[in-house]
Amino acid sequence: MAYAGHQFGHFVPELGDGRATLLGELTDQNGVQKDIQLKGSGLTRYSRGGDGRSSLGPVIREYLVSEAMNKLQIPTTRALAAVSTGETVYREIDLPGAVLTRVALSHVRIGTFEYFSHRQDLSAVKQLADYCIDRLYPTLKNTDAPYLGFLESVMDRQIRLITKWLSVGFIHGVMNTDNCSISGETIDFGPCAFMEKFNPNQVFSAIDQQGRYAYSNQAKILLWNLMRFAETLLLLIDKNQDKAVEKAQLVFERYWDTFTEEWSKVMLKKMGITSVKKGDDSLVHEFLDGMTSTQSDFTLSFRYLSHQLSNTPFTESIKPPLFTSDFFKNWEPKWKARLALEKGNQKNKIELMNSVNPIVIPRNHLIEKAIQEAQTSGDYSFMKQLNKCFETPFEYTQDSLEFISPATDENEVTRTFCGT
Ligand code: AMP
Ligand code: MG
Repeated sequence: MAYAGHQFGHFVPELGDGRATLLGELTDQNGVQKDIQLKGSGLTRYSRGGDGRSSLGPVIREYLVSEAMNKLQIPTTRALAAVSTGETVYREIDLPGAVLTRVALSHVRIGTFEYFSHRQDLSAVKQLADYCIDRLYPTLKNTDAPYLGFLESVMDRQIRLITKWLSVGFIHGVMNTDNCSISGETIDFGPCAFMEKFNPNQVFSAIDQQGRYAYSNQAKILLWNLMRFAETLLLLIDKNQDKAVEKAQLVFERYWDTFTEEWSKVMLKKMGITSVKKGDDSLVHEFLDGMTSTQSDFTLSFRYLSHQLSNTPFTESIKPPLFTSDFFKNWEPKWKARLALEKGNQKNKIELMNSVNPIVIPRNHLIEKAIQEAQTSGDYSFMKQLNKCFETPFEYTQDSLEFISPATDENEVTRTFCGT
């Protein structure tokens, strides 16, 4: 598949699948069309200087993290299979090769539109847009303004996606326009990572030196990416370019309202609040600030809230310091007073919170351990154990303590790398 893309803000007119091969489309048992793609299968016409291969590490990483994302109810490409090839892949060191089979609603990205738009091939842009509308947004067909509606729908799906990322502390790491999918699925698990101690400026990717794709920048970057998308559609939106720009701007004018509304919805639900009222946001902002100042783990802090309500024990060793802080003494009564206004009994509220606050997330040091053991001794047992645990991220079992605990100073992973 050919595509272009803005990488860290700079336009590259020709990227394309350099190490992936799109096999084709299949209709699944629910009648939904899916793309099947091999990643790491060898040279393609877009490989440029690369070898088109993938080492085992990035394949295991994508397999584990994309499957975990799915169980966390976040739209994502899926991993159908991971196989080692028996070949050696030459990077800084010699590594075992592997191929991932990936399934997606679509592999078309903003960069695919940029590829044809940059070549001023309007009929190809139209063909691609019609194809995507037909496949992913069929209700737009036969409307008065399908291409403007297309822009809006992609914006809405991407907002729903990124707010979900934020709600589990996920940092994608390379939100270049070629990694931003038209279907609204998480795609490309290169340097992605889940945050542990909450810090809004957190970056993991070794190549993101300016923090462009930091946790809290993801909302702004999405808007920036969608603007690049809109530029490719302008000639379809209206022949009169001034009018087209005006129409696109109207769509973007509601970006922040929609984003904030969606964000409030997902974040407040984590606190047991579903009937979002004006001013509720401050509860979330204060709680996040409390996490930062007490260096508390994002996942466990949210999960602990329901234990605070039910007074049920939570292994002491993983109790976030936030809950014994002065901040919490001050914040807790405000939260409880607000929670009292919600419908439902205590049990319902606890169940609701536990259904959206995972206890198990793909922590970096765990993924790293699975990769190391597979790579150095061909031992996949830890990987399999992890994968099993990720299947039930909302269930707390005492025996999964190893998979629940944050990293220690010894095994903390502070840098991640693109899987090339
Ligand atoms: P990514 O960082 O995965 O978004 O990739 C950016 C671009 O580099 C895409 O066009 C990839 O296909 C290409 N690429 C990454 N790794 C390789 C490789 N080993 N061989 C050829 N192309 C690659
Ligand atoms: Mg990519």
